[in-house]
Amino acid sequence: MKTTPDPAAAQPMRLAPIVTPDAKFFWDAADRGELVGQRCGACQRFRFPPRPMCPHCHSLEREVVPLSGRGRVYSWIRPVHPQPFGFAEPPIVALIELAEGFRIVSNLVGIAFEDVRAELPVAVEFEATQGGHRVPVFRPVSAS
Ligand SMILES: [Zn+2]
Repeated sequence: MKTTPDPAAAQPMRLAPIVTPDAKFFWDAADRGELVGQRCGACQRFRFPPRPMCPHCHSLEREVVPLSGRGRVYSWIRPVHPQPFGFAEPPIVALIELAEGFRIVSNLVGIAFEDVRAELPVAVEFEATQGGHRVPVFRPVSAS
């Protein structure tokens, strides 16, 4: 017989992502613990955020490819006012330059704001949200 977890204790604070049709593949992969990107089927350049048409060659061809999940911190802030909704403490919001050469906005975890440095090597992991979803976040790793 299944046990029912206490809903209040089991419910993450973090809000579920707002899923648009163009980015559904990205969030579905995140729910599985996978980081994926959208690459142009014609010129092979990445499109981020995902969109129907390539901004470089205007092709409508696209493919979903797995990403390494590795990158480096490009810039970062900690929004304090107003208090970010869905977090006990203000998160570190960071622009991560992925190994594949494009940048995504995410959160840094496992490090104090004061210790963040440009070019800090990071790797993806996934945090639970409300509604049973998961979102990518990045944690510092050794440079090797
Ligand atoms: Zn293209």
